[in-house]
Amino acid sequence: MKRPAAAGPRLLLKRLRELLAGPGSPDDRLHEVVRVIASNMVSEVCSVYLMRPGEILELYATEGLNPSAVHRTRLNVGEGLVGDIAMNSRPLALADAQSHPHFAYRPETGEEIYHSLLGVPILRAGKSIGVLVVQNRTRRQYAEEEVEVLETIAMVLAELVSQSGILAPEDLARVRRSSLLPTRIEGRALSEGLAIGTAHLHEPRIEVTRTVAEDTGHELERLERAILSMRDSIDLMLDGDGITGESRDILETYKMFAYDKGWNAKLHEAVESGLTAEAAVQRVQTDMRNRMNQITDPYIRERLADLEDLANRLLLHLSGRDPNEHVRKMPDNAVLFARSMGPAELLDYDRARLQALVLEEGSTMSHVAIVARALNLPVVGSAEGAIAAVELGDQVIVDADRGQLFIRPREDVQAAFRQNMAVRAARLAKYASQKDDPAVTRDGRKIRLYMNAGLLADLDHLDETGADGIGLYRTELHFMVRSSLPRIDAQAGIYASILDSAKGRPVVFRTLDIGGDKRLPYMPHPEEENPALGWRAIRMGLDRPVLLRSQLRALLIAGAGRRLDIMFPMVSEVEEFIRARAMLDSEVAWVRKHNREVPSELRVGTMLEVPALAYQLGALLPRVDFISIGSNDLMQFLFAVDRGNPKVMDRYDRLAPGFLKFLKDVVDQCRAAGRPVTLCGEMGGKPLEAMALIGIGLDGFSMQAGSVGPVKEMLRSLDAGQIQRFMAEILDSHEHSIRDRLLDWAASHGISVGA
Ligand code: PEP
Ligand code: MG
Repeated sequence: MKRPAAAGPRLLLKRLRELLAGPGSPDDRLHEVVRVIASNMVSEVCSVYLMRPGEILELYATEGLNPSAVHRTRLNVGEGLVGDIAMNSRPLALADAQSHPHFAYRPETGEEIYHSLLGVPILRAGKSIGVLVVQNRTRRQYAEEEVEVLETIAMVLAELVSQSGILAPEDLARVRRSSLLPTRIEGRALSEGLAIGTAHLHEPRIEVTRTVAEDTGHELERLERAILSMRDSIDLMLDGDGITGESRDILETYKMFAYDKGWNAKLHEAVESGLTAEAAVQRVQTDMRNRMNQITDPYIRERLADLEDLANRLLLHLSGRDPNEHVRKMPDNAVLFARSMGPAELLDYDRARLQALVLEEGSTMSHVAIVARALNLPVVGSAEGAIAAVELGDQVIVDADRGQLFIRPREDVQAAFRQNMAVRAARLAKYASQKDDPAVTRDGRKIRLYMNAGLLADLDHLDETGADGIGLYRTELHFMVRSSLPRIDAQAGIYASILDSAKGRPVVFRTLDIGGDKRLPYMPHPEEENPALGWRAIRMGLDRPVLLRSQLRALLIAGAGRRLDIMFPMVSEVEEFIRARAMLDSEVAWVRKHNREVPSELRVGTMLEVPALAYQLGALLPRVDFISIGSNDLMQFLFAVDRGNPKVMDRYDRLAPGFLKFLKDVVDQCRAAGRPVTLCGEMGGKPLEAMALIGIGLDGFSMQAGSVGPVKEMLRSLDAGQIQRFMAEILDSHEHSIRDRLLDWAASHGISVGA
C-alpha cells in the first residue's frame, strides 16, 4: 500500500487548491477536501473541526464518520483528543486512541470502530483555528512523515478557511482575538524582579498567506535569496563594534546554524514538495517544535530553540520586512513575550526599553535566563499559554519574584502592584545610596562582601553594589553559551577583560565545573545515573588534563603582572588539590619558560562542597590560600537531597542546627589555621541566613549582586558578639530548623532581615 509520503504531497496540495478554488458551496468543497485527504492518507476517516466563537470546535466536514454529526458534534477547547490538539497546538498520533485519558466518546459520530487517530492543529498566526483528523480501524502506528504531510495539508486548509468564507470573517477575528478578560498565568521565576508594561511579541505573528507554490523554481530562488540575506545580516552583526565576550560567542553559534547543511536541505526539500518558501520555513519550524516537545535534555532543547529563532529570522527576510523591525518597534516599556529565545536575541533588544521577559519555555539554567539575570531583567518562564492569551499592546504585570503574570489586569490590581513596585524601588535606591557604607557590624567586625558572577555583563554590578570583588566567578558559563570549545587565546581574552572590568578588585576564578547539571553541548558526556555524584568538575579536569591545563594557562596569561585568584571545584580529597595545584605550577613554569610575565601574586584555594573534605582540613589548610564553602552542593551532599528536585529540595532547611554546626566546625578550623574562609552558596545572600552565619564566626560572603545591599543593611544593624552568643545557646537544638528562633531574635533586636 502506498503511503502518503510517497504519494507526492505536491500533487495532493495542487489538487486541494483546485478543489477549494472550484465551484460549489463551501461545505460541499470542504467535504470533497476531506474525501481526497482520506484517500491520500489511506485512512477510513478524515474530519475537519473548526473553531467557533466561544472556543468551541465544531465538526465541519467528515469522510467516514456519520454525516449527521456534521455541525452537531461540538467540543470545547481542551475537551477530548480534538480539544487537546487545539489547546496545545500540537499533533497527536495514537495507535490506540480510545485508551488515551483525554478520549471523549461522541456516540453520534459512530467513531467507536476506529482505533487509531492522527490529528494536527490548523494554525493561523500561531493560534489554532481548527483541527484536522484522520482515523483508521486498525491500530495503526502513524509514521513521522505522515504527521508531517498532515501538518502540511493543515497549513493549506488554514489558508483556505480564512480566505474562502467557510468561516465568517467576523467569527474568525473573534476566534483569533482570544479573551479580552484579565488573565493570570502561573510560571516560574527565572530572574527576580517586578515590572509593568506593554506586551510585545518577540516573534511577530507573520501570516503565511500563500502555502502552495505556483512556481517551485521561483520559490527556491526566493528561499536561497532570503537565506543569503539572513546570513549576511548575522555576519554584519558579528562585525559590529560592541560585539564582545559572550554576545560574540552566542552569535557564532547562530552563524554555525545559519550555515548548517542539514537545516538548509530540509528547507529545500519542503519547497520541492510544492510549498511556497514561507510555508516551507513554517513547515520545518513546526517539525522542530514537535521534536522539541519530545526531548527532555535541556541542552539539546536549547540548541533547538536557537534553530527556531533562526527560522523566524528567515521568515522575516522572506517577507521583505526589516528583520529587526520588531526589535526597533518595541515600545518604551515593553514586556517581551517569546515561546523560547536564544540569548543572542535578547541582547538584540534595547535593555533600557525592556521591562521584563515572559517565556513559554525556559528553565533556570537556560542560557537566556543566565543572560537575563546578568542584565537584571525580570523573567517568568514556563508560562504556558501566555502567547495565545496576550495581544500586542496589552497591559501586563510581571511578578518575577513569584513567577506570575497578569495580562490585562484590572485597575485595582494595577494600582496595588504599582505600590509594591514603588516600595521595592525605594528599597533599591536606599541600598544604592548605601553602597559605599562600610560592611562593618555595630560592634566593629569587618565582613567581606563579594559578588558571584558568570558573565562579563555581571561585572557592571560591582560598582553599583560596592562589593569588595568577585568571590566566585563561574567560568563554565562562557563555555556553555558557545558552539565550540574556546581556544586558549580566546579564553585568555575573556579572563583579561574580566580582570580589567574589576579594576583591581580581586576576582576568584573557579575552574570549570562541568558535569552534574552543567553540560557543554559540544562535548559528549556519558549518561550517568547520579550526575551530581558523577564525573564532574575537578574529577573531569584531572582525568582530561588538556582541558584544565589550557584553562589554567589562559588564566595565567590573563593575570600577567597582576593578582590572580584561582579555585578548584568539587575537591573531595587533599590529593586532588595537590594534583591540581601541581598542574597549575607546571603551567606557571611554562609561562616563565616562554619569557612571559607571570601574575604578580597568585592565590590558590578550593571550594569546600563535599563533606569529606571537612575531615581533611588539617592536611589541606597548610596547602591552600583560602577556602570557599559551596553551601548549595554541601547541603545536597550532607542531607542527601537533590538540589534540583522540587520534591525534596526544600525538605531540609539550611538553618538546620546540624548544618550550621558542620559549618561552624569548618569556620573554626580555618580561623585557627589563619586561612580566610568565605561562603559562596545561595544561603549567604539571604539576610537571615547571613546573620546566623556571622553568628558561627563567618566573616566572608559571596552572593548574587542583588543580595549585597540587603545583607549589608542587616549586618550594619547587627552586634556580631550578641548573635554569636545566641547561636552558641541554640546550636545544639534538636529542631528541624532554628529559623523561627532566629526570626524572633532579629525582630527583638531590631535587625533588618528583609521581607
Ligand atoms: C555551591 O555549590 O554552593 C556553589 C557555589 O557552586 P554551584 O552553585 O556553581 O554548584
Ligand atoms: Mg557547587
